[in-house]
Amino acid sequence: MTMLKEGRPTAPQAVATGHMLPATATGNRALMLEEALIFEIGSTDTTGVDFADAPQVASRLGSLTRTDAIGLPGLSEQETVRHYTRLSRQNYAIDLGLFPLGSCTMKHNPRLNEKVARMPGFADIHPLQPQSTVQGALAVIHELARWLVTLTGMHSVAMSPKAGAHGELCGLLAIRAALEARGDARSVVLVPESAHGTNPATAAFCGYKVEDIPATPDGRVDLEALKARLGADVAAVMITNPNTCGLFERDMKVISDAVHAAGAFVYCDGANFNAIVGRVRPGDLGVDAMHINLHKTFSTPHGGGGPGSGPVVLSAALAPFAPLPFVEKQDDQFILVEEETAQDHHGQTFGRMVAFHGQMGMFTRALTYILSHGADGLRQVAGDAVLNANYILRSLEDVLDAPFGGSGPCMHEALFSDKGLAEGFTTLDIAKGLIDEGFHPMTMYFPLVVHGAMLVEPTETESKVALDQFIMALRSLAERAKAGDEALKGAPYHAPRRRLDETLAARKPVLSWTDPALAVAAE
Ligand SMILES: *Cc1c(COP(=O)(O)O)cnc(C)c1O
Repeated sequence: MTMLKEGRPTAPQAVATGHMLPATATGNRALMLEEALIFEIGSTDTTGVDFADAPQVASRLGSLTRTDAIGLPGLSEQETVRHYTRLSRQNYAIDLGLFPLGSCTMKHNPRLNEKVARMPGFADIHPLQPQSTVQGALAVIHELARWLVTLTGMHSVAMSPKAGAHGELCGLLAIRAALEARGDARSVVLVPESAHGTNPATAAFCGYKVEDIPATPDGRVDLEALKARLGADVAAVMITNPNTCGLFERDMKVISDAVHAAGAFVYCDGANFNAIVGRVRPGDLGVDAMHINLHKTFSTPHGGGGPGSGPVVLSAALAPFAPLPFVEKQDDQFILVEEETAQDHHGQTFGRMVAFHGQMGMFTRALTYILSHGADGLRQVAGDAVLNANYILRSLEDVLDAPFGGSGPCMHEALFSDKGLAEGFTTLDIAKGLIDEGFHPMTMYFPLVVHGAMLVEPTETESKVALDQFIMALRSLAERAKAGDEALKGAPYHAPRRRLDETLAARKPVLSWTDPALAVAAE
């Protein structure tokens, strides 16, 4: 091992520790402080601000007047800042390290995006302001819409949906409106087995009966099974491309032609657009509606980092049914069209998805990202994302089973299974081990078509150094799980909390806090 002149090792070193670390008096570890609930550290008579007493007014609440104290804990300003800062340090984030969650596209959020989104002309405006005073913001929505339509080769786009799943709802509502407009009541939506859970949920929410389409052994939609099921009762097929096995659906055009010939529509789940942006236009593949997760493909923050945004691109057949409002350019003015009139050339909107125009902060960030890459840069994004995923796939397939590794390169995510781990060792053990190694776990047990699935998506923003560290960590965990290293079953050892009973937490969540003193008194 070589040392830098500061005396730090230049390469990560395995740290051997006994699994029973010596206890500290406080429960704190190194500079990570153990944090209690705000109910435990706060007090009802502490506050960070001083308010003058409220003036005496005659109460009009009648019997609704509160009789007890509200009982909310208070903290001083400094205690508040520390409480939430400590909690935030227990949260893993894309700004701390690689976030390999497959199907989530957790990529770096460029600081330029943040700078632009915070400009007062975008950040400090109100949706009810006169349109003449927000022309710049409307221009951003219009320009972003133009890019999305161009990149996807589609007819138009509904900008207002606020997440991928919300976009699915928008797309299916447009499909339902189009079918109703032609007096064609259809009741079934077909969804491949490997679909993201939001797809069947959306279809069911819209009142459709959901039927599964099986996958072929190479991880793609079974074309023959799909064709055999098409008929006069099928409203739509929902397909993810690239799919959740990290593979491109090569038969997409054949599928679309067959679906259209049967009078149905093609919904494409575009959450994985990152892998094909600038290279494939879904419009050319016969797609009728597809959501784009701006928070995945176009790098806007998500998860704990911020809200999503899920514009839906639409084919000419569905465009007349798009939701309100939308931005139009008339002469030199941008107009937010809020209502349609009977003689309006737009036709038969199904209604609205949201109160206003959508997620402005995400539009600004996504357009900044698009403009800072340019058309050629976006093409490179897809290439680099696919290269990074294949680097992980090929670097680990000798220690981890890659169920579709034999069917050629993957797209933007590498899929492994638990096959070959020692008896009694599971995907969960590897995921928990990753926490000790400093990485957020990968997506696990999804897609359902692969036993003990581990789905890893590095995205294009990770460097080779970062990928190599991650590969080293996952390789070591795979080797331990294959060798039957019992210690792995207890991981994580170094996290603020050890392994939890996740089933109990999901089935019987404890969502309210009871003062232990009162609980004792009640006994
Ligand atoms: C993320 C994702 C969704 C849902 O998108 P949200 O923005 O989280 O609602 C749907 N399908 C796939 C394949 C996804 O990866």
